[in-house]
Amino acid sequence: MPSIESVKEDIKSLDIFAQEQILEFIEEIIVLGSFASVLATEIKENRFSRGKVCPFCNRNEVSRNGKSNGTQIYICKCCKKTFTDFTRSPMHNSKKDSKKWISYAKCMVNGYSIRKSAEVVGISVPTSFYWRHKILDAVRSYMGIGSVGGIVEADEIFFRLSFKGNHKKSRNFSMPRKPHKRGVKGSKPNKGEKRKRGISSQQVCVLCATDRIGNIMVEPVCKGRLKHTDLERFFNERIDNDSVLCTDSHKSYIKFARNFNLELQQIKRGRHKEGIYHIQHINAYHSKLKKWMGRFNGVATKYLANYMYWFKWLQVFSAEKDMARIKHLIVQSHTVHTDTKIKYFSYREPIFV
Ligand SMILES: [Zn+2]
Repeated sequence: MPSIESVKEDIKSLDIFAQEQILEFIEEIIVLGSFASVLATEIKENRFSRGKVCPFCNRNEVSRNGKSNGTQIYICKCCKKTFTDFTRSPMHNSKKDSKKWISYAKCMVNGYSIRKSAEVVGISVPTSFYWRHKILDAVRSYMGIGSVGGIVEADEIFFRLSFKGNHKKSRNFSMPRKPHKRGVKGSKPNKGEKRKRGISSQQVCVLCATDRIGNIMVEPVCKGRLKHTDLERFFNERIDNDSVLCTDSHKSYIKFARNFNLELQQIKRGRHKEGIYHIQHINAYHSKLKKWMGRFNGVATKYLANYMYWFKWLQVFSAEKDMARIKHLIVQSHTVHTDTKIKYFSYREPIFV
């Protein structure tokens, strides 16, 4: 039987990589083990922060309706539907242990791919895909589009339009263009096909805005070039009246700023700083986002919004320790009501603001 002292000595003699593995192991057996019940309590408190409400009609005339396998069942006196504490949340009806969900949240905090997460958690690739979008749909709903004020930096970033995951077994999808060849860097065009250069309708425009107190807005807005109407839709009632908008020299911002009565500071190409008015924060955000997205080998456009929110979430909570982030991710994604179902995946449409 080893003593605590001898185990400590053994750990000291390991290299740093092995020590990190030990730390991870201890974290798993001690923290994650007790985590499940702590999380369940916190989810309940957050979900029902204003008393027990029906997850279907949001009214609060609810009474207990017996138990099933130890789980409390409630009934809504208004819509007559029954529910549990977790109805309409990602984990609801999951046949997998909640520890697997915690370990999955950890993979998401680490930004792992669907395949890698499946391997780490010990679930199938389709389940990993399903969990990812269950959680991200909830995160999107929990965070919302948000708003900005004060000095606001705005800029666009483009992602290639992708119909990935739409074709297989689908009776209701026909490819609107010839498929590109796969597995070639930059997915080279087919013979005879002209790949459009520059910004075209083959690209999805994602608009980002940040302010100096850390608010972030990031949404796919359109296909192709950004228009002032896209800016209006994006910012409508989400930007303070006295804000100063900092952008590059894109023309659409001029018309938008005029219509919205905002002060506009356009920073010329190549110029980095105009005193306090610059777009360095948004540029840094974009380069981090592009780099981070690189690991996913092209995301289907219909899931792009979810990935944008995933990255936004990671940025918002970047200062926190991993365990706190795992907890936030689980609690927040279970606080809102969501109905992500596999059978609707093939009908999904891209989300534009
Ligand atoms: Zn109800």
